[in-house]
Amino acid sequence: MAERIANVSGQKVLLIDRRPHIGGNVYDYKDKNGITVQKYGIHAFHTDSKEIWDYLSLFTEWTDYHHQALAETSHGLVNFPVNLNTIDELFESDFAKDFSERLLNKFHEGGKISVADLQNDEDEVLRRGAEILYEELFKNYTMKQWGMSVDEVDPSVIARVPIYLNRQNRYFTDKYQGLPKEGYTAMLNKMLDNPLIEVRLNTDWNDIKDKVRYDKLFFTGSIDAFFNYKYGRLPYRSLRFDIQTLPQEHYQPMAQVNHPNHPTMTRSIEHKYLLDEKSRNTTVSFEYPEAFNGKNERYYPISQKENIDLYTQYLNEAKKYPNIWFFGRLGDYKYYNMDQAVGRALELYSEVFK
Ligand code: UDP
Repeated sequence: MAERIANVSGQKVLLIDRRPHIGGNVYDYKDKNGITVQKYGIHAFHTDSKEIWDYLSLFTEWTDYHHQALAETSHGLVNFPVNLNTIDELFESDFAKDFSERLLNKFHEGGKISVADLQNDEDEVLRRGAEILYEELFKNYTMKQWGMSVDEVDPSVIARVPIYLNRQNRYFTDKYQGLPKEGYTAMLNKMLDNPLIEVRLNTDWNDIKDKVRYDKLFFTGSIDAFFNYKYGRLPYRSLRFDIQTLPQEHYQPMAQVNHPNHPTMTRSIEHKYLLDEKSRNTTVSFEYPEAFNGKNERYYPISQKENIDLYTQYLNEAKKYPNIWFFGRLGDYKYYNMDQAVGRALELYSEVFK
């Protein structure tokens, strides 16, 4: 939004961030081994939108990184999200063959299906296969990630990682995929490289709101904080990262390994794979979900009816202020992917500055 306002509308922007750096949760930095670390967990860019891809391409070149992941199971590391290769890796061969054939007979090759739908299928073999996939890969990961039973989690959340009826070991199927060649922070710095944009870090909106004058205010923090929690607090899930430098070239076979049945950890990320950086050492972040408690950061809105109702109350409050707009994962209280967050900003810009 700041980039469009300055570069296209030619207006002055004051960009503030509570944190000591720009970029929110996509912020990355080079550590002492020259490895680019994604401080707030893995962000692999993917989109089907040419418009969004072309827009960001104004500020960065891309690597051709296509995200892949493995998951640790009782049968060792398997491809994740589940595809026909995962089934071969996880089940003994007769069952794997039967399971895959039945899947391909029922659903079209190259398609996808959610584990929940498969668990309710009329075919007993499909149900049995789905149950093992659920136990090995989905159940405990989801309970840890969201801190609640799987039934309470919005089904669209788990459907983000469907079962693919193909043999491409790819996390995403989008047409455009990659990572900014010099990292996200470099891309964002380029977006902000305009004398019309002033960046002030370590600055909370509440601390300066009585001291600045503005025509328009765009707020990408949490909407409940903006209104001083007058209707109550919007819940979020948070994450804790244990970032370690290890004296070995590699720790794991690829950037992301999921640990569904580990008691507390969900993922380990080995950062050097992302931009294909070389070092005798390696940097790994171990990821532990936890509740947002006001001291850690907000990561995931929790899509449940009472939370959406609370958000809507704040949104109605916001309507009283015609020169203030809320957007982004926190401002909209939506589990956006990066491209959706960018798309939403571009749309809002066009709406407001038409
Ligand atoms: N999930 C799972 N097992 C996994 C990975 C994901 O059960 O190994 C479920 C879990 O409920 C998670 C959701 O799928 O919250 C979405 O996963 P995704 O990888 O898209 O999450 P993100 O990268 O946004 O944290």
